[in-house]
Amino acid sequence: MKMIDAHMHLSHIESFKETAAARSLVDYSVEGLLREYEENGVVLGIGMGVTETDGEGFPDRGAATPMGLDMVESPFPPQIAYCPGVNPHTLDQKALDALERDLRRPEAVGIKIYLGYYPFYAYDDVYQPVYELAKQYKVPVVYHTGDTYSERGLLKYAHPLTIDEVAVAHREVNFMMAHFGDPWVLDGAEVVYKNRNVFADLSGLMVGDAAECARHKDSPVFFAHLRHALTYCDHYDKMLFGTDWPLAPVRPYLQFVQELIPEAYHEDVFYKTALRVFPKITPLVEG
Ligand SMILES: [Zn+2]
Repeated sequence: MKMIDAHMHLSHIESFKETAAARSLVDYSVEGLLREYEENGVVLGIGMGVTETDGEGFPDRGAATPMGLDMVESPFPPQIAYCPGVNPHTLDQKALDALERDLRRPEAVGIKIYLGYYPFYAYDDVYQPVYELAKQYKVPVVYHTGDTYSERGLLKYAHPLTIDEVAVAHREVNFMMAHFGDPWVLDGAEVVYKNRNVFADLSGLMVGDAAECARHKDSPVFFAHLRHALTYCDHYDKMLFGTDWPLAPVRPYLQFVQELIPEAYHEDVFYKTALRVFPKITPLVEG
């Protein structure tokens, strides 16, 4: 089966490099990722754009919008697309114009907003011009939701319930809740269930190498909340496979999602739903 990884990273972020070296043990490079994709039948990965400057690690108040995949040289390999990232601290007209220029590129398939890493709610006025661009260019907005991979994040901004208001105000835009709002997945499930334009990716739910992933996956309790939420949501067709690579290697993460999702929905979760949410990827994967 062809697969799409709806959430990964290829940016020079210090905490990703440390995690790759000490915890997930992946080769954090373009070649390293493409090798894992090749071995596992992944035909496309969607990178979440993020950058950090020397002054401050991510979340970086000084990073320019759009934040991209600064490990990937243009032209992008055909297996890689991306979502330019937004830094609300620097979102002036010049930044919006630059974001719009990015969205004209075929490989820019969505927009990433980092709730919690940046202290603004999804419905904050600062993001309204971004939603207008999403509408105009027919791309989804991806939100970070749930736990922040930095203790400088502020969790209240990353709660999945805060997406409901935006989803109602912008029915013509699709939204993808990254990480399903974990650990608040039951709230995430309600927002996905109730709003036809809200989807969720299942990336980043565990961090580590194959042994660590197996330990969590096979625990009777570690993912009880997630299984509860997926069952309650009862919309497996609105879930997307994503790895959050380099936080975990592709294969053990893939096995985890395969075991989590009923087989009847594998084609949706691993491939078809990504085409629904990110219409611009269709020519990239289907020629
Ligand atoms: Zn991520």
